[in-house]
Amino acid sequence: MDNHIKELLRDHTLRLTQGRADVIDVFLNHEVAVSHADIEVAVDGKYDRVTIYRTLKSFLDKGLIHKILDDKGGIRYALCADACSEGSHQHNHIHFKCNKCEQTTCLEHVEIPMVKLPRGFTGEESNFLITGICDKCKQR
Ligand SMILES: [Zn+2]
Ligand SMILES: [Zn+2]
Ligand SMILES: [Zn+2]
Repeated sequence: MDNHIKELLRDHTLRLTQGRADVIDVFLNHEVAVSHADIEVAVDGKYDRVTIYRTLKSFLDKGLIHKILDDKGGIRYALCADACSEGSHQHNHIHFKCNKCEQTTCLEHVEIPMVKLPRGFTGEESNFLITGICDKCKQR
């Protein structure tokens, strides 16, 4: 098993299992955010829906991956930057969904602008999705 995968699991206090390793492998092989269906296809039927769902849930809880809400109401997942851990997901970046290739990317270095909330509201999580044409599609 890949050392990088072992480290990722250890750093996030996740027990090493083949299933977890295989799912991380899918993330490492994709530059863009992946959906549950993408993972199912990538592991080629080796794990059922429930197993994949549980694996993703444990990754979310431990700060290994984060959720991205799609413009069509779908959910995608992407690896977190190193700084995330259990109970402290620092997510302040914008996500970009391309209308041409339909891929969603983390723009890790583009911060979500501060939004002033009305009195009495406490924000906990923000989802900021921009749709448009990505750099790869623009070049074509
Ligand atoms: Zn995170
Ligand atoms: Zn594109
Ligand atoms: Zn992201």
